[in-house]
Amino acid sequence: MNYRALDQWTRELPIVAERGKIVDRNGVVLADNTTAYTVFARSNAVKDKEKTAALLASALDMDETAVYDKLNKKKASEITVAKRVDKSKIEKLAQLSLDGIYYSRDNVRYYPKEDALCQVIGFTSTDNVGTTGVEKYYNEYLTGTNGELLYETDLVGVELADGVATYLPADDGYNVQLTIDYGIQEIAESALEKMAATYQPTAVECIILDVNSFEILALANYPSYSLNEIPRNDAELLNSLTRNRVVCDIYEPGSTFKIMTAAINLEEYAQGNRKAFSPNYVFNSSRTRYVDGTTVKCWSNHANGKHSNQTLAGALNTSCNPCFTDIALSLGKETFYEYLSAFGFGQKTGIDYGGEAYGLLMPQSVVRNCDLARIGFGQTIAVTGIQLACAAASAVNGGYYYTPHLVRSVYANDGYVLKKNEATLKNRTVSEKTSAMLAEMLEGVVRDGSGKKAYIEGYSVGGKTGDILTTCVNLVKNLIKIYT
Ligand SMILES: [Zn+2]
Repeated sequence: MNYRALDQWTRELPIVAERGKIVDRNGVVLADNTTAYTVFARSNAVKDKEKTAALLASALDMDETAVYDKLNKKKASEITVAKRVDKSKIEKLAQLSLDGIYYSRDNVRYYPKEDALCQVIGFTSTDNVGTTGVEKYYNEYLTGTNGELLYETDLVGVELADGVATYLPADDGYNVQLTIDYGIQEIAESALEKMAATYQPTAVECIILDVNSFEILALANYPSYSLNEIPRNDAELLNSLTRNRVVCDIYEPGSTFKIMTAAINLEEYAQGNRKAFSPNYVFNSSRTRYVDGTTVKCWSNHANGKHSNQTLAGALNTSCNPCFTDIALSLGKETFYEYLSAFGFGQKTGIDYGGEAYGLLMPQSVVRNCDLARIGFGQTIAVTGIQLACAAASAVNGGYYYTPHLVRSVYANDGYVLKKNEATLKNRTVSEKTSAMLAEMLEGVVRDGSGKKAYIEGYSVGGKTGDILTTCVNLVKNLIKIYT
């Protein structure tokens, strides 16, 4: 029998490949598979459709008429009667040994940690194709190749009693190992829950990354949902709960952006730009600056004298807006924009996750001084959480900007590593010397300034306010408990 003939005279039943697992950096399983069954009918081989429908309906807990209608579908030679059927029902069905009825074992996605890391992991369609998150971004690796079971049949599709069956085994998908540390992730998620309980926000985000590689150790979004109970029938709810806001949504960063403005000033000063301010320069203590006929004010009314006689370190401590306006205006938009670009604003970071937002950076050609004055302290600019985290990390890690990533490696069940994501340097932002000087100033913010609540005896903690710090402190303290 030649190949063509074999093709004509056989019918296939799929042998489903197992989808690869998703694990954390230490091997904790986050996405796994469980077994379910699909029941098929080969309509031509079903002799008594009425009787078969009744028996099937009773074994599978289905509506008899619906099953009968399926068996009578004229167009299809192979009909799917039911999906995701559990083993006990299949055992009942097997005892009936009905003509023309077959079943195949399927692998169904199962997420052992329920809603942990849900927006990052994402989920699959009912056909096991990645729809969102890592499940989607790495779908081509996670998906295996199905095998086949070939039966010889006669011209109308009835299996030949003495026909030969050929089995082609399935080729399982590759596993994906995340950069995430599940232990840190759990702490981040519980911190967000506490924060949500206290302040009732619409949403909260948290990102923890290794500053020396931009491997993401934790990425949490509140509210979350269980990956095993996806609200597939409510599109609006589904979109809102599954959105990874850290990567896909933008917001005005405000005072946290002052880290970059300070870094830009220090770097330009080190390079001899006379428009940059020396670390010893004392800023004008007035609350207000007048730019292009508009007024730029500090968030503080400057009445208590705390914003007087400040150097750059002092301005970071009190988070004094006009000092950062002075820096941006003095350096000018050409210089300032060069650095904004090096720090990755207005661009995708290139993280391995779909739907990343660019942020909003006004085109340089249309920026007026009154805009630049506000960009200096984080207004009139919008960023994603991941952009801000990467920019700030590069400002204090020696000036290295890497491509952030969520996946460490893609590997087969036998341990073969197909793909490894290593730290990839994109560009430099500032020099190591500038970075070290800035890091010291940010430690000052936590030791003496507006970030005091984050101070932890015996540890170097740098920070910049603009966030609610209490929760961050608990987070850091818990991390220290685990990692020392
Ligand atoms: Zn001020």
